[in-house]
Amino acid sequence: MSDSLSTDILIVGGGVAGLWLNARLRQQGYSTLLINKGALGGGQSVKSQGIIHGGTKYALSGALTGASEAIADMPRRWREALAGNGELDLSGVRLLSDAHYLWSPGTLAGNLTSFFASKAVRSRVGQVKGSELPPALQDARFKGKVYRLSELVLDVPSLIQRLAELAGSGLLAADTVEPLRENNELTGLIVDGRVIRAQRIVLSAGAGNAELLRALDLAQPAMQKRPLHMVLVKAATLKPLYAHCLGGGSKPRITVTSHPAADGEWIWYLGGDLAEADGVARDEAAQIAAAKKELAELVPWIDLSSAQWATLRIDRAEPAQSAQSRPDNAFLAEQGRLLVGWPTKLALSPDFADRVQAALIRDGIHPQQYSPLPALPRPAVTGPFWEGLLS
Ligand SMILES: Cc1cc2nc3c(=O)[nH]c(=O)nc-3n(C[C@H](O)[C@H](O)[C@H](O)COP(=O)(O)OP(=O)(O)OC[C@H]3O[C@@H](n4cnc5c(N)ncnc54)[C@H](O)[C@@H]3O)c2cc1C
Repeated sequence: MSDSLSTDILIVGGGVAGLWLNARLRQQGYSTLLINKGALGGGQSVKSQGIIHGGTKYALSGALTGASEAIADMPRRWREALAGNGELDLSGVRLLSDAHYLWSPGTLAGNLTSFFASKAVRSRVGQVKGSELPPALQDARFKGKVYRLSELVLDVPSLIQRLAELAGSGLLAADTVEPLRENNELTGLIVDGRVIRAQRIVLSAGAGNAELLRALDLAQPAMQKRPLHMVLVKAATLKPLYAHCLGGGSKPRITVTSHPAADGEWIWYLGGDLAEADGVARDEAAQIAAAKKELAELVPWIDLSSAQWATLRIDRAEPAQSAQSRPDNAFLAEQGRLLVGWPTKLALSPDFADRVQAALIRDGIHPQQYSPLPALPRPAVTGPFWEGLLS
């Protein structure tokens, strides 16, 4: 059996939440070890749309909800990190768009009245016209209104790559995880047969948290999965678009983000209402047909006759909520040395790290001295997932 290891904080799960937390803790002098099954970032993180929400979307129901308040500071924190002067140095990460747009097609302007009644929303949103419109909407046939939100869109593979660099040598590829209990207390984990002791253990394994909790014989916190059926379309005729298209309800009809393919063409990644309940019930062919119909109505000037199409099923993993409503903040539960959580949004990873740090400070957990880590098998880092789906 391999030698046992000790560290201040053992993190299980290297999606954006675990990687961000890891980088923050290391910066504060903690020794950390992050273990991951599969490729770093290869779970929900790389399949997300990469939007750093500031909460404006959630104000569509007319009132600023808790979600809007909690998330409002995230674009600033990410912007500073991307500029290299924030809590992490993410200066090499590719920014796909420095704004996300709210797009009301044609006749829907009335639905925005209550939305703009809120002063907090007005101050963060500005209407754009003509040459300021996103390139894909600059067409004489476009008849809608477009508002610029001060929210960013990131290239997630480059984000994961950078966060993996910030992890230094503290990464370990892991297959099996079992509890290490000493004197009736969870003191660490046994990872592929290797004993790892830690002052605190954080589970940030996304959908994998449920299985890890079962391995630790714990029933709480309960997790819910929210299935999505996303659509990808690639064509030489596509230009970049980052927008929520409003459908009259409190959820966007579609949310479009654009990702560069290796051959220079753009791939549109479509979420929003299209990918939720009805979309989940459709098979791949029916979901593609539904997406074609939406785009034919919304952007009829874009010729998609030679486009390639694909769909992707992926679950959002979150703490269990009543009535499957969206959680407002990053979530963290604690039990002895164990902390378990979900950021609930990529954008809220800094909030997730804040919560872990607050628990460490409250419990007086300080960095200690350990023997240097030996060379460890390092997990791979995810690449653009769409390359496997669209050539
Ligand atoms: C389609 C879609 C679009 C989204 N769009 C956005 C968006 O635009 N903006 C936004 O803010 N949020 C968005 N989200 C939400 C966001 O993606 C997630 O909240 C976030 O990525 C979760 O990060 P995570 O690190 O908790 O989980 P994950 O990214 O799922 O990472 C979990 C990691 O844990 C590892 N793991 C699992 N089990 C084990 C185990 N037993 N042992 C060790 N490691 C394990 C996995 O391999 C993985 O690397 C979107 C989500 C989806 C599904």
